Amino acid sequence: MARLELKSVRKSFGSTAVIHGIDLVVEDGSFTVFVGPSGCGKSTLLRMIAGLEEVSSGEVHLDGIRCDHLLPSARGMAMVFQSYALYPHMNIHENLRFGLVCQKTPKAEIEPRIQRAAEILQISHLLDRKPSQLSGGQSQRVAIGRAIVKQPKAFLFDEPLSNLDAELRVKMRGEIVALHQRLKATMVYVTHDQVEAMTMADTIVVLRNGRIEQVGSPAELYARPVNQFVAGFLGSPQ
Ligand code: ADP
Ligand code: MG
Repeated sequence: MARLELKSVRKSFGSTAVIHGIDLVVEDGSFTVFVGPSGCGKSTLLRMIAGLEEVSSGEVHLDGIRCDHLLPSARGMAMVFQSYALYPHMNIHENLRFGLVCQKTPKAEIEPRIQRAAEILQISHLLDRKPSQLSGGQSQRVAIGRAIVKQPKAFLFDEPLSNLDAELRVKMRGEIVALHQRLKATMVYVTHDQVEAMTMADTIVVLRNGRIEQVGSPAELYARPVNQFVAGFLGSPQ
């Protein structure tokens, strides 16, 4: 469980500012979706939370402790990418095990954690296979499993379903929401897909050009969008 707080977080690449001072609280146990058009800074913001990108200024706090100076591995978060990022030369069991060995998980805990994650994601029958022998949906389950075994305080998802076909995408949305309900962990989920945001989130953060336009529940944003952009983007009648 984790409460995340961003304080005046900014990011520039060279002289180009892409995140313009974000203040945001992600409540403990929430499913928060960052949504906005391509290029608005969703991934950059998520990567700064994960520690994969340095903040140019501002602070990231996890459970009240400042963590923007910590290495990604020390932050207690796990990230799931669109590209799955599985190790091609390792089988699925080894893919799940690798992160645990790296974070020096006690030996006795490793196998039970792998088996539990495999059971949750229904990939127990795939543990001997190589990533190249999996479908897109199976690969994404393994990528999520690799996050679960780490027992992170927060899960960070960057467009995890974009590479899947429409039908599987809808199915996996439901599975990720069910996973959130089961694990009760804080999840931050990035997507450019409005329907995904509206159906999965308990809190939506609408981003445009590196700024927050509005934060609220799907119902609030739909019923009371603060401006034309939010209304148009989320398809509200206005
Ligand atoms: P989104 O995920 O919402 O599509 P990104 O966070 O990937 O947006 O990108 C936001 C902006 O920052 C874009 O204009 C992008 O070109 C720029 N950007 C992202 N990463 C880098 C980088 N490593 N170097 C320079 N510009 C970058
Ligand atoms: Mg992105």
